[in-house]
Amino acid sequence: MKIELHVSKIIELSNPKLETIVGIFQVITQELLPRLIDGIVLNFADEMIQNEDKAVRCERCGSSGTLRWKTRHGEMTKIITIFQPVLISQLQVECVNCNHRYYITRRLLGIAPRKNITDETKRKLGLIGALASFRVSEKITSLFGWRLDKMMIWRCVQQTAEEIEFDLDPEEEANGEADGTGIPIQGIKKRGKELKVFVQNKKNGGIRIAGLSIGDYDKDWGALFRPLIPALQRFVQPFLLVTDGDTGAFKALQGKVRVLFQRCLWHIPYQMSYFLWKDGVKRKSDVWYDCMSQLFDVCSLREHIDDETVIQKLVSLKKRRLNKLIGYCRSSGLTSCASYLSNARHDLFTSLENKLKGYTTSHVERVMRTVNLRINVGKWSLKGALNSTKIRLAYYYNGWDA
Ligand SMILES: [Zn+2]
Repeated sequence: MKIELHVSKIIELSNPKLETIVGIFQVITQELLPRLIDGIVLNFADEMIQNEDKAVRCERCGSSGTLRWKTRHGEMTKIITIFQPVLISQLQVECVNCNHRYYITRRLLGIAPRKNITDETKRKLGLIGALASFRVSEKITSLFGWRLDKMMIWRCVQQTAEEIEFDLDPEEEANGEADGTGIPIQGIKKRGKELKVFVQNKKNGGIRIAGLSIGDYDKDWGALFRPLIPALQRFVQPFLLVTDGDTGAFKALQGKVRVLFQRCLWHIPYQMSYFLWKDGVKRKSDVWYDCMSQLFDVCSLREHIDDETVIQKLVSLKKRRLNKLIGYCRSSGLTSCASYLSNARHDLFTSLENKLKGYTTSHVERVMRTVNLRINVGKWSLKGALNSTKIRLAYYYNGWDA
C-alpha cells in the first residue's frame, strides 16, 4: 500500500548547535511515531473493510468479509517500540453477521491480544537485560530516549528465555565439558545454589552450550542430562565428558549411554591443595611441596601422543606414581588427600588411553566467567538467574540473537 505522508511542523530554536538539533529531532520523532502508527494502521483497516477482505475472519463467528467500522478513534492503548512507548488510539470494528465488536489494532500491528510489545522488541530488551544489569539497562536505554523501567526489562528477560532451549548437536564433536558455579540467590546465605553448565566442543574448535540448570551442589546433574540422553545415543562413538568434579554425579548416565569420564587434570592439583589444608598440612611445608610437585607431574601430559605402546607405558608409569603418592598419604595420616586421589584416579587418563582430545575444563571455565560477569550483580531468584544466563550464553555461544 502506498501512503502519502505530510509532515509540517514549526520548530523554534535559539541556536544551531548539534545537540539542540538532535534534541529537536528527538521531540519530533516522539510526536511523529504515534501519528505514523495511527495513520498507517487506519489506512490498512479501511482498505480491509472496504474491500470486504475475504481473508479476514470475525474473531467470534468466523465469517469473512463481514466487518464494518465501529470507531476509528477508540480507547487509547500503550504500545512499546524500540524507541519509546507510544499511545495510540484503537480501531474498533463490528461484525455484521454476529454483532460482535472488537479492537483490531493489535492484530494489524502483529501484537498478541492484551500484550503491548512485539516478540521482536521483547527479545531486544531481553538481550539488553541479559548483557547488563537491570539498572544499567535502564540507564543506557534512557540515554537513547527510552522511558522504560527496570521491571519492564526484567519481564522481557524472563519471557525471552522461555523461547530458548539447549541441546546437543549430533553434527558436532562427541565430547564436552561440565562444570558448576555457585550463584547468589535471594534468601540464601552465600552462594547457596549451583548453576550447572554443559558445553559441547565444535569441530571448528569453538564451543556451544548443550545444557544448563540450577540446583543444589553436586546434585541434579541428572536433570540436566536426562533430556539429552536421546541425543547422546545418536553419537556413534562414546561421548567423552570432562569434568572438574566427582564423576559419581554423572554415573547415572552409564548404562543408558556410552560415556567416557575424564577428570580435569588442571583442577586436580588445585583441589589437592584444599585437601592438604584439610589434613592439617602447612602450606609450603616440605610435605606440601612433595605432594604437590608429585601430583603436578602426574597430571601434566603432552598432547598428540599417538604411539599405542608409548601411551600404555606412560599411563602405567603415571598410575604407579599416583598409587605411590596415595600410599604415602595414607601412611602419613593424610586421609582426606588419600581418599580424594583414590576417587579421582580411575578417571585421570581416560582421554589419553582412548586417544581423545580433552584433558581440562578450560572451555567451560571461560563460559563461567561470562556467566559470573552478569550473575555477580545483585541477588537472584532461581528462575531469574537461570533465565538471564540462558539468554546470555545463547547469545555468546549458540548464535542466538535478538
Ligand atoms: Zn461475527
